[in-house]
Amino acid sequence: MLLTYFPQTLYFKHPFKIAHGVRSSTPVVIVKLEYNGYVGYGEASMPPYLGESHESVISFLEKAKPILTDLTFPFDMDEVLRAIDQLEEKNTAAKASIDIALHDLMGKIRNQSTWEYYKADPQETPYTTFTIGIDSPDVITQKVKEGEAYKVFKVKLNGEDDQLIINTIRNSTDKPIAVDVNQGWKDKEQAIRMIEWLNTKNTILVEQPLPKNNLEDAYWLYQRSPLPLFADETVQRFSDIELVKDCFHGINIKLMKCTGLHEANKMVLEAKKHQLQILIGCMSETSCAISAAAQLTPFADYADLDGALLIKNDLFNGITFNEGKICLNKKSGIGVFPVDSAVL
Ligand code: MG
Repeated sequence: MLLTYFPQTLYFKHPFKIAHGVRSSTPVVIVKLEYNGYVGYGEASMPPYLGESHESVISFLEKAKPILTDLTFPFDMDEVLRAIDQLEEKNTAAKASIDIALHDLMGKIRNQSTWEYYKADPQETPYTTFTIGIDSPDVITQKVKEGEAYKVFKVKLNGEDDQLIINTIRNSTDKPIAVDVNQGWKDKEQAIRMIEWLNTKNTILVEQPLPKNNLEDAYWLYQRSPLPLFADETVQRFSDIELVKDCFHGINIKLMKCTGLHEANKMVLEAKKHQLQILIGCMSETSCAISAAAQLTPFADYADLDGALLIKNDLFNGITFNEGKICLNKKSGIGVFPVDSAVL
């Protein structure tokens, strides 16, 4: 098997403010695996705050090269990915890029789509949320307009202008909203007050209300919240489900956190075993990683897969949306092809 990779930069349609300046782009690495004329694509997306970079992903891929070079079809997915996982700790996005490319390649060789491989029903896909970031009322109103085609908004809050943000949205639409606090509420009393207020504003769920390690207060909140609470930062990989199963109603599964489709599928099964609801989310990434994640969405209650819609230079064609509903295609593998095949 031949491994090649392409460090790329994705540019946001709307650069956004962060603590020290403005974020206008995000690094990704596209992975290509070739075998007997078949090509599988994968992607690592590395938001700077999670510690991976072009350099770290490339160095991990170089380490993984011998394993992949020696690989022949058919291969044991579980065994190969365990070997990749054991190469080094963390590096979850780099690991995900290999996992995705292996799934895509295997699907191409078998002429089978990845959703078929996981026995998912393509009709059962949820609607994706469309993200509205923290911004001035004018920009928020403009984004609500841009998201006209989508049925559910994902609204980011940070504990500062929360009511202003929600009221601004409610001035222009009564569509349901999923709220993502990104650990932004500092104490449980503030959190329960806000959740009760949000419950009167057609909110369907609240993601990561408190700091990720504060499980004691998460449990306190879980017992009182009228809205389902989802763990995002608190749950990265399969083994974290044990931590959150009794203090959240659901989990946000992202390929870049959990090393890819193989582990994500295991997390889906484990979550269902514990009656946890499932949200499948994403980072800022191209339609390659988005299409990979979408393969598992028939198993999810919610999807937050608008990552590729928010960038200017999507590098792939892949899954599409029909008024926000995820449309899985019948193509083999994860169902993607590069926009410019001369580049990738
Ligand atoms: Mg989140």
